[in-house]
Amino acid sequence: MKQKSIKHIIAPRPPHFVGDGFRVHNFIPSMPSLSMQEMSPFIMLDYGAKHHFPPSDQPRGVDVHPHRGFETVTIAYKGRVAHHDSAGNSGVIGEGDVQWMTAASGVLHKEYHEESWSRAGGYFQMVQLWVNLPAKDKMSTPKYQEITNDKMVKVNVGGDSFIELIAGQYGAEIGPANTFTPVHLSNAKLKAGAEAHYIFPTSFNSGVLVIEGEAIVNGEAIPENHFVSFQHDGETIDIKAVQDSIVLVLSGEPINEPIAAHGPFVMNTRDEIIQAFDDFQNGKFGFLEEGA
Ligand code: MN
Repeated sequence: MKQKSIKHIIAPRPPHFVGDGFRVHNFIPSMPSLSMQEMSPFIMLDYGAKHHFPPSDQPRGVDVHPHRGFETVTIAYKGRVAHHDSAGNSGVIGEGDVQWMTAASGVLHKEYHEESWSRAGGYFQMVQLWVNLPAKDKMSTPKYQEITNDKMVKVNVGGDSFIELIAGQYGAEIGPANTFTPVHLSNAKLKAGAEAHYIFPTSFNSGVLVIEGEAIVNGEAIPENHFVSFQHDGETIDIKAVQDSIVLVLSGEPINEPIAAHGPFVMNTRDEIIQAFDDFQNGKFGFLEEGA
């Protein structure tokens, strides 16, 4: 099998704040070769690199806002995030946990630093990924999967090195997340010198983000906080940790449908976007109380 050639190695762009709690570097869709079409089904990736928040009695975060047409996947590396949505789902995720929210036909939600964590302050690090839905599922019922670390499938790759499988396959193992289209999502938590070997179809859009440490990815040294995109010319992604490392790996079957995106709505046509604003303004996304 042939290695996927590296398309781009992408340094993080300057960060911006989402609300007052999420200091993020955007990779998808704003960086070269990481447009929504090029990375489909992954249509947004914000990376909150490690950042220290001082103690605050008022939890920082993002207040009530809508989503329609896709899924939001939040992966916590450091710190704790509390989530509430208008479908009645809520949860707190901490280090090593994932929340997978299917906004689909529409929810209101809010995302804050968890209260007691906020009071203590500390290092915060996370990824928020948006996974697109095919047209036939965009107006399906919202749902919520809380994938705490203990629910992940852990594949030992030697010594104390593991693949923490969230969605899709690694070898014969299958991760716990239910997805609408074929999606792989995992963290390779590798000690220095350990290796991980991934196989994805040539046609899948794939990316790797070095969350911590440094890794050789398909022959190239990738520093911390850098993203790698790949050509559609091979099947394998081979990772070797130079130092103790955490590497986020994503791969998915492209959804080859038109994309009409505006702010928190990602649909197929401009008319559907206008409808989403209309429905939001008319209260059709339900109700959620404001504030942390
Ligand atoms: Mn949101």
